[in-house]
Amino acid sequence: DQNLGDLDPEVATAIRAELHRQQSTLEMIASENFAPVGVLQAQGSVLTNKYAEGYPGRRYYGGCEHVDVIEALAIERVKALFGAEHANVQPHSGAQANAAAMAAVLQPGDTIMGLDLAHGGHLTHGMRINFSGRLYNVVAYHVDRESGRVDMAEVERLALETRPKLIIAGWSAYPRQLDFAEFRRIADAVDAKLMVDMAHFAGLVAAGLHPSPVPFADLVTTTTHKTLGGPRGGVVLCTKELAKKVDSTVFPGQQGGPLQHVIAAKAVAFKIAAGEEFRERQQRVLEGARILAERLARPDCAEAGVKVLSGGTDVHLVLVDLVESSLDGKQAEDRLHRIGITVNRNAVPFDPRPPMVTSGLRVGTPALATRGFTAEDFAEVADIIAAALKPSFDETAEVDLSARVALLAKNNPLYPHL
Ligand code: PLP
Repeated sequence: DQNLGDLDPEVATAIRAELHRQQSTLEMIASENFAPVGVLQAQGSVLTNKYAEGYPGRRYYGGCEHVDVIEALAIERVKALFGAEHANVQPHSGAQANAAAMAAVLQPGDTIMGLDLAHGGHLTHGMRINFSGRLYNVVAYHVDRESGRVDMAEVERLALETRPKLIIAGWSAYPRQLDFAEFRRIADAVDAKLMVDMAHFAGLVAAGLHPSPVPFADLVTTTTHKTLGGPRGGVVLCTKELAKKVDSTVFPGQQGGPLQHVIAAKAVAFKIAAGEEFRERQQRVLEGARILAERLARPDCAEAGVKVLSGGTDVHLVLVDLVESSLDGKQAEDRLHRIGITVNRNAVPFDPRPPMVTSGLRVGTPALATRGFTAEDFAEVADIIAAALKPSFDETAEVDLSARVALLAKNNPLYPHL
């Protein structure tokens, strides 16, 4: 059997180049992380060959005795990690976890409520041309213009007015914790189910550093590759009452054969997430984000029109508000890219600039914490970003900041044995 380098040098070369990019730049996209080598090994294993439609002990294919062991481990570990009554580990992605969870409790045409995409919600929470917006009648709630926090009074008012079947709490770009108990109270008042999409903050929940939505929600969905730091994929957690419904909407409702190589990698990631080292890493994730928010809220940044949405963060990301800056989101993203820091531009609530340009940046710390970044390293990154967003940024600054980025990357090696 030929190895990849001989079989397909074009793909092999691009993979090596991507490894080098990850090693030599600073990854600050809030939804990204670096999976441990054990996770990569499980995902690159012979499990990729196996069909296993069905669930452990109830398969439609023969030869499933070993994948049954693996999937049962993944299920038990994720249930224990989050204290959930039931888990389905088969969704291929976060979007598919959401599609299945919603289908378990909704009929097409039913009303759902979710945070507006432009205010930090996810596509699958009701965006017009997403499955969620096409299948369901969507009522979007928003953040408050002054505080930048979800407007719970609006959530309650809209729920009472529109009587949704499902309320979705969760976000892709929001720097604060949600009040799950309040969402539950409002859902109960209108007899709605509550779904929490914890894709972004699941790692913080696993580490006990963020309130858990599990005791409050009927359905909790997550991805496994963001703060959780595992393979790309999704999970649905739910109550015992919804277990059968969820399992049948994932398979055969939404998917065919599960990706057993990914499920094995999920099992490995859940084992890691239950450990002390993981908890220590998530503490650095939070500390890094706080350091960044504090630095970007200082007067020298304010003078450049750079602000921090909601004034800070209690999670793994900071939303930089550039509404009053001469730099737009795209220019800021490009500038950071030039010095070796990868972030994504992001619309801010009530953004005056168009969606392809935007007036914001979403900056996250999980990937750097996985690389080993300490508070001191995060303070240096924060200084570098603050300097890069100033009007004084020129070619000399670009050379200087690029060298400082390269030094941080060198001092925190990534995948040294790959
Ligand atoms: N839910 C939330 C809150 C997300 O932020 C994302 C990803 O960005 C998803 C779901 C979708 O996950 P995936 O990209 O795996 O489909």
